[in-house]
Amino acid sequence: MENKVLILNPYTCRDYYSDITVQWKKRTSLLHPPIFLAYISAYLRENGTDMVFLDAAGENLDFNQNLKRITEANADLIITKTHFSTWEEEKKLFASVKERQKTTIISVGIHPTLTPEELLKNSPIDIAVRNEPELTCLDITKGLELKEINGITYKDNGAIARNPDRELIENLDILPFPARDLFPHKNYRLSSYKKKPMTVVFTGRGCRFNCIHCGQQVIWGGRRRVRSAKNVIKEIEEIYRLGYREVSFEDQIVECDERMVEIANALKKYNFSWKFGTRADLINDKALKAFKESGCYEVFLGVESGDEQCLDWLGKGMGIKQIEEAFKLCRKNKLFINATFMIGLPGENRESVRKTIELAKKLNPDYATFYAFTPLPGTEAFNFYKSNKLLIREDWASIDFQQVRVRTEYLSSGEIEELINEAYKKFYFRIRYIIKMLMRINSFSIIQAVSSAWRLIISLSKRGEIDKSQETKKKILEEAKKEYKYFEMAKDKKTALRKAIEYRKKGYYFAIPVKESDGWRILIE
Ligand code: SF4
Repeated sequence: MENKVLILNPYTCRDYYSDITVQWKKRTSLLHPPIFLAYISAYLRENGTDMVFLDAAGENLDFNQNLKRITEANADLIITKTHFSTWEEEKKLFASVKERQKTTIISVGIHPTLTPEELLKNSPIDIAVRNEPELTCLDITKGLELKEINGITYKDNGAIARNPDRELIENLDILPFPARDLFPHKNYRLSSYKKKPMTVVFTGRGCRFNCIHCGQQVIWGGRRRVRSAKNVIKEIEEIYRLGYREVSFEDQIVECDERMVEIANALKKYNFSWKFGTRADLINDKALKAFKESGCYEVFLGVESGDEQCLDWLGKGMGIKQIEEAFKLCRKNKLFINATFMIGLPGENRESVRKTIELAKKLNPDYATFYAFTPLPGTEAFNFYKSNKLLIREDWASIDFQQVRVRTEYLSSGEIEELINEAYKKFYFRIRYIIKMLMRINSFSIIQAVSSAWRLIISLSKRGEIDKSQETKKKILEEAKKEYKYFEMAKDKKTALRKAIEYRKKGYYFAIPVKESDGWRILIE
């Protein structure tokens, strides 16, 4: 008999951006569309599987509501995406499901790929799908013998069995487009945007570079496979028909080549706004010009370090000169730059971290995030930290790239934490930066402006600098207020905060409580 399948994005993802970027978790209520699960849904649907899809996070369900909906679906198999950062809550949810019904629970994504055995131990999960999930999930739903299915680790009579890896799909064009028609799509919120609703597109999978800390090598085999421009353009047409107006290209890296220029040119017709992430050494003027003309407004760049030795250690294969050149080209083409840096690299001392901070200030991106270097299991960096006894935490359930989990030969974990705080403070408390943000409020779209201001406030408060930032915050809010709607009054701060959170949950992402002479107002965009 054919299996009935529930594809579930658990409620736990409500406040989390993704496995990798959880910088703003539980602060700005970002909600990432579950594209990974939507790919599986589309593939199973195309192959005739009896399937239902539930995005409990997208529907803003809580634990009990999520549990009820799972029970109502009464599926034989549940395919879900568990996460390092939310695993403890997910474990409780699936344990409760198991108490109520007999069902096989299958986890897909980074979590089961990097640590399948740990995930299955003392856990309600039955099968960990490693790497690319679509073909493997179809084999499971068809009821093939588990021992015959490549790409899984599973419980086998009290033991844990690991089957060989599955070959990656060579021609990604064979996959149907993610089943976005099943999404509560108006509810998704990404970190910055110009238009709503927005969605995420992958033009390929994996990356051909070999940075030793990068989980993509474990997940996607350390090589790059791309979809044809024609195939991506067809998906763009579909998402326009579904009502989306903004796209975030979230490949591990997006090439700035002929294929991507062709895709960008096709985007023009639909007047999308869009953003993408790439490597500094892939950037070129010709492509950026075409991207800008077709609605691109922001680029994500991983700078990582201001110390050439650290970049070498990471195996980045590029130096600071190339990074500076890329920044110049992005500025020339009037693209916002969202840059990431890492602190806690091996061999780092105060001097090398200061080089990173100085480089961040010199490059002056529109947003900067300073991550605590986190070696992921399965990577070369992890083995290095482990064998040199530089790992101080291995509780993967709380991985968030903000908590320090390592030390270096020269810096304790406490010192790394202190230097991250210093980096945030030195980067954001600069007149040059503050003026840039304020100017943007007047000269750019209000959404971008307030997004920038809000993110600045979050960065400062998150790093424990809220008292010192009062002046900054006041100035930004004064400017933002000019563009905001005054929505309603609240009698005190507590009520204002509660109401602002309620608004944000309803999708008013930029609801902010502001003190006025006659009480508290909740401003909403
Ligand atoms: S370039 Fe980026 S995606 Fe590619 S290996 Fe390096 S860190 Fe990973």
